Amino acid sequence: MSEMVVKNVVCPVCGGSCEDIQVELKDNSITVKNACKMGNGKFQEVVSEHRIKDPMIKKDGKFVKVSWEEALDKAAEILANSRRPLLFMGSETSCEAQEVGLHMGEYLGGVVDSNATICHGPTCMGIQEAGLPTSTCGVAINRSDLNIYWGTNPLASMPRHMSKYGLFPRGYWTKRGRFDRKVITVDPRKTDTAVASDLHIQLQPNSDYELLNALLTILNGKTPHHSVEQVTGIAISVMEEMVDMMLEAKFGSINVGLGAGSSFGKHRNIEMALNLVKELNNNHGTKFRIGALRGHCNVAGFNQIATYLYGYPFALDFARGYARYNPGETSCVDLLREKDVDAALVLGADLVGHTPADSAKYLCQIPMVCIDIAPGPTPSGADVLLPGVIDAFECDGTFYRLDNVPVYFEPFTDSPFDFTKSNEDTMKQLFAKVKELKEKA
Ligand code: SF4
Repeated sequence: MSEMVVKNVVCPVCGGSCEDIQVELKDNSITVKNACKMGNGKFQEVVSEHRIKDPMIKKDGKFVKVSWEEALDKAAEILANSRRPLLFMGSETSCEAQEVGLHMGEYLGGVVDSNATICHGPTCMGIQEAGLPTSTCGVAINRSDLNIYWGTNPLASMPRHMSKYGLFPRGYWTKRGRFDRKVITVDPRKTDTAVASDLHIQLQPNSDYELLNALLTILNGKTPHHSVEQVTGIAISVMEEMVDMMLEAKFGSINVGLGAGSSFGKHRNIEMALNLVKELNNNHGTKFRIGALRGHCNVAGFNQIATYLYGYPFALDFARGYARYNPGETSCVDLLREKDVDAALVLGADLVGHTPADSAKYLCQIPMVCIDIAPGPTPSGADVLLPGVIDAFECDGTFYRLDNVPVYFEPFTDSPFDFTKSNEDTMKQLFAKVKELKEKA
């Protein structure tokens, strides 16, 4: 690897999609500037020893190195012979690769899902119920004088959110950065983010819905029923203080994390939060936006392209020849638990490591093709393992940032393989083989 310095590289780790990373490649080592610890870890994968470099097929329970053609043939055979395959298009790859997966799922009459199904799926569903009063992060930087983190600890999950988008950046109307902003954190835990906030609403776990309802009641000039104090663990006077801070803000930015959509109430919590924002905007002389803190770099991308191509953000079932969507039935955890799929393709995600044990167990029992860059539970459970290319490092493409802004990324090095240029290329080669087999049959 020759010596070079590249600036403005996009980080492919969390939904922040930081686009200001500097990379120095020298003697097979890599020095990274501006990235957080999580980002730096991923950049080191380019030169890591454990990178998956060879196509492999499992024979008698052990992986055997094979040619690219043989691995691709076997992968295509698994998918073409399946009556109902699950194609899991993970968020650690480009929209371009995910799009091929969606088309392949439609062609095969399978199910196509992505990480939102096990993270912000309820947020997507809440948005379908109530609409999304939102803005880009750029608007929040320039205008927001109140930041609310609800059910999230960005200092751990998106370490640069506060410095790039949330708290410290100096904007047109927020020239003094942190000094022009207040922060409220709503979280049952006393996290680092909560400690750094002006007000910590330490609610009881699973009482988000009741708290949101109470805030809406106060906003409408009424006093909530006193029992809400017992349910949420928050005094009504503190809720009133929070509402006062919201009404005093010129522009508020609410950032919801998985704590909001994954606690009891699920998508109804999000629906209620969206209604609160609409109410603030409509009748109270302030302006608010709301957005989700997306954990993985391109988890928002799948929701975007699946929606504009097929009308639904995740859990798309093509069994009837057109897309159906019914989370709880057509979502991957439920399909695996019910043993409703008979083969799987997993791209750019550790699905085995992130689904409940019974679903993960079944996933490892059915024929599985995996495209990944490094060993882990999912590659270990696969029958065919295809080496992954690292998006934003080794090929170009598109991610959608946490605020649904598309970010085009360019590589700073080439694909280390002569058999594939990118995960999109791998998916296209695989789809061509699947079509060949199907048309022969
Ligand atoms: S905050 Fe996210 S996108 Fe930014 S450097 Fe860290 S991991 Fe990468």
